Amino acid sequence: MRAAYRVRLVANLVNGSTLFGVLVAAAGRARLARGRDGLLIGDRYRLPVPPAPAFTLGNVIMTRIERDALLRQEALLAHEARHATQFAWCAGLVMLPLYFTAAGVSWVLTGDFGSRNIFERRAGLADGGYADRPLRPALARCAGWAGRAAATRPRRHRQA
Ligand SMILES: [Zn+2]
Repeated sequence: MRAAYRVRLVANLVNGSTLFGVLVAAAGRARLARGRDGLLIGDRYRLPVPPAPAFTLGNVIMTRIERDALLRQEALLAHEARHATQFAWCAGLVMLPLYFTAAGVSWVLTGDFGSRNIFERRAGLADGGYADRPLRPALARCAGWAGRAAATRPRRHRQA
């Protein structure tokens, strides 16, 4: 295992996010098994929330599908592994309110929880099955006006 993955493994053990993931896996009656790079995969997750086909808590990747089917989806697995790294960078469960705030901002801007969510963008939008949606039309018009106003504003020059 690469040193970075070893650090992620230890960080998410110490910050409690992996333990939380194991508890959620138990609540969702997921079957836990070892994945690569120090990750755990909980397949056959049965709770209705979150509605995503896969999600990550600490070093635990949860999915509703079979483990082997997830392992064949390299892009989605890489996306979820990046979320595990994000948990380590965010000192664990602090990531959850940050993530939900980012999802809310994304929804306000685009009508989609992932498009402008910094966590999803950094994990790879396409790998996670998200579309890169444009700003809502009213916001795009405001951004257009602001951009044109800034471009036409006379510049002040300092005089010595
Ligand atoms: Zn994601």
